[in-house]
Amino acid sequence: MKILVINCGSSSIKYQLFESDGWHVMVKGGVDRIGEPMAEFRQIWFQGDTVEERLKESLHIPDHRRGLQRVIEALYDAGPLNEAAELGAVGHRVVHGGERFHSPARIDAAVVGAIRETVPLAPLHNPANLDGIEVTRSLLPGIPQVAVFDTAYHQTMPPVAWRYAVPLSLYQEYRVRRYGFHGTSHQYVARRAAEFLGRPLADCNLITLHLGNGASATAIAGGRSVDTSMGLTPLEGLVMGTRGGDIDPGVLVYLSRNAQMNIDDLDDLLNRRSGLLGVCGVNDMREIVRQAEAGQQDARLAIELFCYRLKKYIGAYLAVLGRVDALVFTGGIGENSAEIRARACDNLASCGIVIDLEANHSAQRTERRVSPDGSRVAALVIPTNEELEIARLTLATLD
Ligand code: ADP
Repeated sequence: MKILVINCGSSSIKYQLFESDGWHVMVKGGVDRIGEPMAEFRQIWFQGDTVEERLKESLHIPDHRRGLQRVIEALYDAGPLNEAAELGAVGHRVVHGGERFHSPARIDAAVVGAIRETVPLAPLHNPANLDGIEVTRSLLPGIPQVAVFDTAYHQTMPPVAWRYAVPLSLYQEYRVRRYGFHGTSHQYVARRAAEFLGRPLADCNLITLHLGNGASATAIAGGRSVDTSMGLTPLEGLVMGTRGGDIDPGVLVYLSRNAQMNIDDLDDLLNRRSGLLGVCGVNDMREIVRQAEAGQQDARLAIELFCYRLKKYIGAYLAVLGRVDALVFTGGIGENSAEIRARACDNLASCGIVIDLEANHSAQRTERRVSPDGSRVAALVIPTNEELEIARLTLATLD
């Protein structure tokens, strides 16, 4: 069966087509800069070991409808689809599922309505996700569609982890609570880590660290998320590319009183001008590492802040979980930066966390152990694959 995974951002569409027999990718591609004078569309084709870019175009794509039309046309023109009936299902990434969705949901009018109700919680992302769902439903009528939520995996958190210490009425009236994000990635790497350790996931306690442009840590007990670093929004927790993570909320009150910053200014500050970018003027970790090596003090401090916050969360989740079987690194930074992994785990030997220098610097890019054999907590690098997890969950939801 062929399964199409669609991820609609505010001005982009990413997609991958999987063959469920063996779960290999047949094609993937994307549209960037939707709504700008010139958008970019590309599709890459995978066949055995061959990877071929067959389509690359610059064209005007005014909205998601036109973008998805182009994607679906391309799947027929350049292959590998001959007719819609070959498509078993479409899985959509949806950022916020609120409290309603604890697992993926087969899309119908009620599910669309419930996703619409969560728009105030994710005003940038959920409207784009909804556009994608509605346009795909009209372009591919009769093909089952499934919504896979970034928040759903964390719905197993206990109230002590998800309640903020604010008046109950804010939760009752406005659903102010912690939700957590990157759930699909944490769930995928947790499952792969258990397989790597050769143990049932239900017996594994893990700390998973998704370190990309956005970053989050999750404490997993017996395969279930029991705490995570992001909250009502993806702003809480770790230091990220352009978001600073944890901050004294008093800073915002202070700035609004003393720096004439209004809500939009604060939103811009917290989402787009903070984090690594705020500290050193650059949000790309590879470039920051280069600048730090060249002696730039701000870049060095940005790396130190990033790793120090990470270490604090590792410590917190060791305390939450009691016993930890593995610490799992994923995301662009977690998978590729030996330096960040080593710094985050520096001086944690008394907690059973040790990094093996040679294994950590190995050029291997697949799933691997970077701690010495026999260390109490295995440190693993597990490349994430959110699209594959969405495809798998989509199929599982239809069964
Ligand atoms: P996204 O969250 O957008 O999916 P990724 O998971 O691809 O992002 O992560 C992007 C981040 O990973 C960037 O900060 C990039 O610099 C960083 N990164 C990628 N390769 C390396 C590397 N070798 N060393 C350090 N950082 C890296």
